[in-house]
Amino acid sequence: MASQTAQPARTGAANTNPLTIGVLALQGDYDAHARAFKSSGAQTVLVRKAEELAELDGLVMPGGESTTMLKFLEKNGFFEALAEFASSKPVFATCAGSILLAREVLNPEQRSLGALDATVERNAYGRQIDSTILTLPTEIPGGPLEMVFIRSPRITRVGEAVQVLARRDGFPTLVRQGHLLACTFHPEMTADTRVQQLFLEIVRAHRRNATHHT
Ligand code: GLN
Repeated sequence: MASQTAQPARTGAANTNPLTIGVLALQGDYDAHARAFKSSGAQTVLVRKAEELAELDGLVMPGGESTTMLKFLEKNGFFEALAEFASSKPVFATCAGSILLAREVLNPEQRSLGALDATVERNAYGRQIDSTILTLPTEIPGGPLEMVFIRSPRITRVGEAVQVLARRDGFPTLVRQGHLLACTFHPEMTADTRVQQLFLEIVRAHRRNATHHT
């Protein structure tokens, strides 16, 4: 614990340190995400307060219930701190996380961080019972990807800067906008870690650039 504060952090040899990935742990599927990233070699931290964002190389916003997460975020300036973080640091948002990260939320309209240039419709496939597992093509190398959809939202519009890496019935399910990665399914619930690996690559590249520019 105390050793964390003793490091002359983020200079010189920073790139040889393991990546520190925060997992937003207000509600929802954060434990499974933390396990998945830990087994990919990253150091993971559960994040429950705005102050805890400072030490991170990247943040995961898990699935769960976006309305509930929003309630927690709207306390103590966490929402504003997270919006600031997402404007410049890597974020991987899954399902409810992608709802929170989007510029526009529909069905019903809901406040969001506005970082990802997309419109997201909540619960677009019906009730809980409509949850499903599909194996669909993706731009990520390695062939089709198993996707677990749980009361999934649907991305109905993406901006020009957004790259679509997979679709379901023509609607994007996995998208990237520079340092932001978002999906409408639950990659932490399958054994395939390609989406997590892609996020770690984004985080690694981002940290490399940040180190060069300071
Ligand atoms: N239906 C949830 C919401 O609207 C998202 C579901 C999920 O994250 N699996 O927030």
